[in-house]
Amino acid sequence: MAAITEAAIRELAAMKGTRAPITSCYLDVDGRRLVRHKDLEHEVDVLLKGARARADGQPSVRADLQRIEDYVHHGLDRSRVRGVAIFACSADDLWRVVELSVPVRTRVVVNHAPAVGQLESILSEHEPIGVLMVDRQRARMFVFALGELVERSELFEELPRETDVRGLRDRGGDHPQVLEAHTHQHLRNAAQVAFEVWSQHPFNHLAIAAPDDLARQLEADLHPYLRGRLSGRLAVPVTAGHAEVLAAAQQVESQVERRREAQIVERLREAVAVGRKGAAGLADVVDALGDHRVDTLLVSQGFSAPGWRCDGCNRLAAMGRRCKHCGGEMVEIDDLVEDAVEEALAQSCQVEICIGNADLDVMGRAGALLRY
Ligand SMILES: [Zn+2]
Repeated sequence: MAAITEAAIRELAAMKGTRAPITSCYLDVDGRRLVRHKDLEHEVDVLLKGARARADGQPSVRADLQRIEDYVHHGLDRSRVRGVAIFACSADDLWRVVELSVPVRTRVVVNHAPAVGQLESILSEHEPIGVLMVDRQRARMFVFALGELVERSELFEELPRETDVRGLRDRGGDHPQVLEAHTHQHLRNAAQVAFEVWSQHPFNHLAIAAPDDLARQLEADLHPYLRGRLSGRLAVPVTAGHAEVLAAAQQVESQVERRREAQIVERLREAVAVGRKGAAGLADVVDALGDHRVDTLLVSQGFSAPGWRCDGCNRLAAMGRRCKHCGGEMVEIDDLVEDAVEEALAQSCQVEICIGNADLDVMGRAGALLRY
């Protein structure tokens, strides 16, 4: 499964349907929820029926929806896929399928640009994470990306044997010291393994699973790059299976992500409070987007609201139907939030989809840090 990248999402976000609108379709195809393929087909048929009714006879969109139906019935292999994002525009010969190992929210959006908000949200939720598990003999290093194991490396070092220890003692050595020296060397080797794995498969967060005394030493032995990526400790034994490790790592990752979101929302709250470089509420946010003033867009996950897009200058607005900017006629759109996210991505703004952040909800579930 090819991993979706930030660059690929931005490339999608910059696409425009030139001859016809683009159909974006997200499907939750998780086999744990929909065990029988027939159930999935039924769900998709209902979804597409609604989309066809809204397509209003546009031939390109109708062709897109047919191709999506054929794909679900004949082309989709669900053995490793939990979510699918499809971007289609038959008139422009566009057909892009992104298979994901994480679930998505099922929906179809027909718009002038691909609806990439969910992909963006998935990517920021699942930054690559490294896990280094250590005891006195073993070191195991894993890298997970988008909920999948992408790299592993293992190290096993025999403890010094009693006879070696006795020999050392004869020469004035002492067993606890020998063990101590062995442990130190082992931890340095483990830190080296982590660094080598990171150079091959970079990750943004590193979690350590080790007894406290070892974890402290290990953290001190890490390369400074990796020390700066430490995100917490996992309480799993060094022998844990990788599904168990992944579950623990994902917990750490979501805590890291929630903390990071909270910091950005706090910056927004301060900016709005002093009335400088901050916009709160969807109406002000889309105004700022229209002026290209947005640096970071923040949206509460699951927020959607209808709105307007100007036929003349393409600006978004919460209120229609006359454009405040150019006086042109505006058209109603289903989801202003989705359009705002796409617009922000197309402008290369940072986009943060915040989960469970009550402060952002209070500010209107959408906000923006502004460049000026
Ligand atoms: Zn306008």
